[in-house]
Amino acid sequence: LPRQPAASPLLALDIGGTLIKLVYTASRGGGADGTDLRFAKFERRRLQECFNFIRAEGLLASNAGGEGVTLKATGGGAYKFADDFLEKLGVCLDKLDEMDSVVSGANFLLQSIPGAAFTHMNGLRNPVDVSPNNLFPYLLVNIGSGVSILKVTGNRKFERVTGTHIGGGTMFGLAKLLTGCKSYDEFLQLSQKGDNFVLDLIVKDICGELVCQKQGLSTSTLASSFGKVITSKKKLTDYKPEDLASTLLSAFTYNIAQIAFLVASLLGLRRVFFGGSYIRGHKSTMENISYAIDFWSQSQMQAVFLRHEGYLGALGALMSYGD
Ligand code: ADP
Repeated sequence: LPRQPAASPLLALDIGGTLIKLVYTASRGGGADGTDLRFAKFERRRLQECFNFIRAEGLLASNAGGEGVTLKATGGGAYKFADDFLEKLGVCLDKLDEMDSVVSGANFLLQSIPGAAFTHMNGLRNPVDVSPNNLFPYLLVNIGSGVSILKVTGNRKFERVTGTHIGGGTMFGLAKLLTGCKSYDEFLQLSQKGDNFVLDLIVKDICGELVCQKQGLSTSTLASSFGKVITSKKKLTDYKPEDLASTLLSAFTYNIAQIAFLVASLLGLRRVFFGGSYIRGHKSTMENISYAIDFWSQSQMQAVFLRHEGYLGALGALMSYGD
């Protein structure tokens, strides 16, 4: 962590399209020189709650009375809300490039926090041993409101290769409309209880089981997400929110994983790290991403997940206090 006097908290923000992420330091107490990293997030539309939290936690305390408090901040909202931070909290935002921050956050986690990287496949979570010698190059797929895909070749060395606008914001937006869910966690819980095969068309539905077997096709392979709806007489209200949620999550997750696989193949990369709040530590999201990467790559590539995956940008911004 950047050097600092023990008692002064550091706070950095990542103000994204959907969420405001905060990472801050707190002394462990007992006079030890160690500090803990703490994490908090707010919906972007709840900026006022975020301000209240920053005040209540005393995160500007070290600078109390001082002039010109400056916080490191990244994400598009750092530009959009800079005036609000000045007016309501009396702080300036030092705006940092979003991709720089995401990459330094990922590299910090991977190089400084043991056990931060892990695989999640076939129900098993296994730590991934990363050392600076075997870390680079890697593909970083950050799934936020949209998706950014970066090739990382070293500390501060990266290229934003591509991205897609069909990301977490798209899925959660559709989820709100289709299932009536109020929060992302509610959506994930619904999806756990649902069955995507109520709406998804699988190969067997098209060819029939016998033909599939003859041609050596896997009967349960997805042919078309939501494809069964077309030939059904059911209305939206006839579908269970649980099944709709499950179908949405698998459609978007497999699609993003497939794009990640294609980009990794084009670049000849075998290790793909996934970040962004989309993942939210959710087991079946990670399982589905891992399955898709393994399936498409014929086990030649590995999907790796990160603890604190939603806070990469904010962590990177925090690291920049040491610059
Ligand atoms: P951004 O920086 O664009 O806000 P994030 O990495 O924070 O992106 O991810 C936002 C996405 O994560 C949302 O679009 C949604 O899919 C998912 N998500 C996870 N937790 C939440 C939440 N509490 N509220 C809304 N969306 C959430």
